[in-house]
Amino acid sequence: MTDLIIIGKGPAGISAALYALRANMKVTVVGKDIGSLAQAHAIENYYGLSTPLSGTELAQIGVNQAKALGAEFLEEEVLDLDFNGQFVLKTKTATLSSKALIMATGSARKKGNIPGMVDYETKGISYCAVCDGFFYRGKDVAVLGSGEYALHEAKELLAITEHVTILTNGEPLKVEVPSEIKVIETPVKKLFGEFHLEGLEFKDDSQLNVSGLFVALGSASAADFARKIGAAVDGSKINVDANMQTSVPGLFAAGDCTGGTLQVAVAVGEGAIAGLSAVKHIREQKK
Ligand SMILES: Cc1cc2nc3c(=O)[nH]c(=O)nc-3n(C[C@H](O)[C@H](O)[C@H](O)COP(=O)(O)OP(=O)(O)OC[C@H]3O[C@@H](n4cnc5c(N)ncnc54)[C@H](O)[C@@H]3O)c2cc1C
Repeated sequence: MTDLIIIGKGPAGISAALYALRANMKVTVVGKDIGSLAQAHAIENYYGLSTPLSGTELAQIGVNQAKALGAEFLEEEVLDLDFNGQFVLKTKTATLSSKALIMATGSARKKGNIPGMVDYETKGISYCAVCDGFFYRGKDVAVLGSGEYALHEAKELLAITEHVTILTNGEPLKVEVPSEIKVIETPVKKLFGEFHLEGLEFKDDSQLNVSGLFVALGSASAADFARKIGAAVDGSKINVDANMQTSVPGLFAAGDCTGGTLQVAVAVGEGAIAGLSAVKHIREQKK
């Protein structure tokens, strides 16, 4: 077990790591890529940059700085997070646990743009198999997505019903799916159902009857993880207090995933506060 796990190696996650490392904590940073900075051609509005840096360069400097202070890095997608007195995080190849955890996963992932999706929110559309799967025991369900996270959600649902289909909505499937799970790659045209979701119609006019559609596009977001372990969220944003503490003791959040001004300076500041708050929490636990 490590002291602190940080999900995300963008400005918020790295800033949090620097403060925790300097307080002599054992820190593991789990990040699948460099996040939003990968798309920023030139950062010119961050303190101390007399000449602009590309987002990729700035991110690499941060990662090198945290590595030099002793941070462990795991470059994988986080698929699951649990809390049983300690935080337990799963990737495809590893299970890690810690006394405290900081979510710094950036802004929320895509919600999907199939016509009719908004109308069925809370009426058959879900963003969390562990939270809502129980309502669909033995029923036909589908998972929207094409990657590791979609496969993870589909496997969670297999424990509840044997009728699970992954819908890639025209995307190529990126993972190997066990034979118990059906896969349909045809693009989805629309959803249907009178009061509650009853099914989907595809571009080739074929139909699939489902009572539940679990959206798992891209990677799980901070809000997805927070909901799983019972932390308060406001839509796609994590609710935090002035110490970046969520409603679950030991769980902190920082950066774009908390909403507000989506800028490097803000992410770095929130990361610093989250790192210091996590250190205080860990020290109290060790007493
Ligand atoms: C095109 C563009 C230009 C921008 N230009 C500027 C600018 O000029 N100045 C400025 O101040 N800001 C700019 N920004 C905003 C800035 O990039 C963000 O505010 C900042 O990067 C947020 O930091 P963060 O650490 O909260 O999230 P991010 O930098 O997005 O980092 C999120 C991290 O979480 C990881 N992650 C997410 N989900 C998972 C998962 N399930 N498993 C594992 N890892 C996960 C990602 O891999 C990544 O490491 C720009 C953004 C964009 C998109």
